[in-house]
Amino acid sequence: MEESFGDLKKSQKMHQRTIPYQGYFAPQQIEEALEILSKYGKEIKVIAGGTDLLVQYYDRLYEVNGWLDLRNISRLKNIRINKNIMEIGAMVSHAQLENSEDIKKYYPVLSQAASDIGSPQIRNRGTIGGNIVNASPAGDLLAPLMSYKAKFKLLSGKDETLIPAENFFLGPKKTILRPDQLLVQIILPLPKKNTYGCWIKIGKRRALSIATITLALVVEMTEDNKIVKDARTCLGSVAPTPIEVKEIRKKMVGKSFNQLDFAELGQIVEDKISPIDDIRGTREYRKDVAKEIMINALEEIDSACGGCINE
Ligand SMILES: Cc1cc2nc3c(=O)[nH]c(=O)nc-3n(C[C@H](O)[C@H](O)[C@H](O)COP(=O)(O)OP(=O)(O)OC[C@H]3O[C@@H](n4cnc5c(N)ncnc54)[C@H](O)[C@@H]3O)c2cc1C
Repeated sequence: MEESFGDLKKSQKMHQRTIPYQGYFAPQQIEEALEILSKYGKEIKVIAGGTDLLVQYYDRLYEVNGWLDLRNISRLKNIRINKNIMEIGAMVSHAQLENSEDIKKYYPVLSQAASDIGSPQIRNRGTIGGNIVNASPAGDLLAPLMSYKAKFKLLSGKDETLIPAENFFLGPKKTILRPDQLLVQIILPLPKKNTYGCWIKIGKRRALSIATITLALVVEMTEDNKIVKDARTCLGSVAPTPIEVKEIRKKMVGKSFNQLDFAELGQIVEDKISPIDDIRGTREYRKDVAKEIMINALEEIDSACGGCINE
């Protein structure tokens, strides 16, 4: 811990600076970070890579009295398999996700989504935890995490909560995270064999593009690759929070791919989403595109299964 927050506030008053002096903490341990949060709560802002936060801060979207920087907490930077789950620390960068052999092997949709974020600089600094807590409907990792049934581990000085991703988001930039809590880990069940995935991001250009719409489709097949056991269709930028279109699962489970009507499934996605008009695209455009990319994703998974299902 670099300085006591109280001392900083005193010196801030004494020096009468025009730009308020910033309290800054960079602990090495999670416990220390939680102690700081429990003491200062709303007065202090948690900073990870700063790629969202500093843009918002320079635009003066909020006042900040102090910073709690997570950069020195090495325990938050690990990706590891623990029995039948994958544990990803909240400070894991997009570049780490993109390059991890385990993430590529078990969660290709997540790895591809990470590789589509911003630019190399943004992927080196930006973190999975920041993408989640920032809770932009256009956050690229959110739909993939939901499609892999992610849970988020939240810690405070007094409790620990494990919350499914779909229950974490309340609206644009709004989550259930309390000011005394940190997101410390993202936990994913290891997918069963014969799980296939497809990631599609539509944006205005290939690099440095905020998504107009994203789709993460993850399908688990039976061992013989013939029948759908589970299917999760999650989208971003089509509602105030990332969403799963649960009706698709009901339509797909228990069927082979040649029994599926891709156009009907695309239409369900189009009907179930409620996008808005904004600078990246109109509501109608997003609805049309959602249908098309759903069909494309089904075709891609069909061929990834070896086309064996269409015999
Ligand atoms: C040029 C540019 C391009 C971008 N392109 C994309 C893109 O293509 N796709 C995309 O999804 N995003 C994009 N972003 C947004 C941003 O890079 C990502 O959302 C990134 O993942 C944010 O992570 P961070 O570590 O920088 O978060 P920060 O900015 O440090 O924090 C974001 C928010 O999360 C909170 N927070 C962070 N970590 C924790 C934690 N562990 N516990 C509690 N609270 C926490 C912070 O208090 C803050 O409110 C872009 C940003 C820029 C500037």
